[in-house]
Amino acid sequence: MTEPPPAAGPSGRLLVIEDDDSLRRILRSALERAGHRVDDAEDGLVGAEKLGKGGYDVVLLDIGLPFIDGWRLLDILEGRRQPAVIVISARGDERDKVRALDLGADDYLTKPFGADELLARVRAVLRRVRGTAEAALVVRCGGVVVDLGARVVTRSGAEVRLSPTEYVLLAELARHPGVVMDHRTLLTRVWGPMYAGDRNYLRTFVQRLRRKLEFDPAEPEIVVTAGRRGYRFGPPAELGGQSAP
Ligand code: CA
Repeated sequence: MTEPPPAAGPSGRLLVIEDDDSLRRILRSALERAGHRVDDAEDGLVGAEKLGKGGYDVVLLDIGLPFIDGWRLLDILEGRRQPAVIVISARGDERDKVRALDLGADDYLTKPFGADELLARVRAVLRRVRGTAEAALVVRCGGVVVDLGARVVTRSGAEVRLSPTEYVLLAELARHPGVVMDHRTLLTRVWGPMYAGDRNYLRTFVQRLRRKLEFDPAEPEIVVTAGRRGYRFGPPAELGGQSAP
């Protein structure tokens, strides 16, 4: 038997919640070979118990599960900063994908998928969970304060709980206040090059951020749509101090 090459990128503590015994074993061994510490659960009830104890970086979550299904588990996890959630589901339906992202999943994998794709997504999501050390920089807009050094977001003084991916998207925008970031750049920087054309992710996560940050999500002032080009944090940056006519 040939050993796979050592894992590139971060390793983490993972929980696999999947009721299909053979798939659960395959996922577990692929992830362990890549250097991750893996725990598993064969149904939603065991999964909920293990999640309650905490300590996981990423959860791989099946939707169709006995006792407590994946939708309900997503609901329980919503608003937690950790773990990140990758939904794995047999349903290739685009509406399910949007629903999973809308309910707080960080990513979505449709069965069947290869080990390479699985490991790439886990690496990408772990990078978002861990983040990178960043110079202390605080960006303000309206009542929202994004502290990039501490990775903390507040609205009217109260902490806003964001998922790892919600935070990374907001930070990417807030690092360039008033500047339009185009769709492809945001998708590539936040999710990775393989997502560059997948606007669904961006649209869904922008809506999630607006629900948490905006005083009126229908009239956004913090995560602003910039025509068909992309999004912008706050009002447009003034060029050379000139005000618009
Ligand atoms: Ca299942």
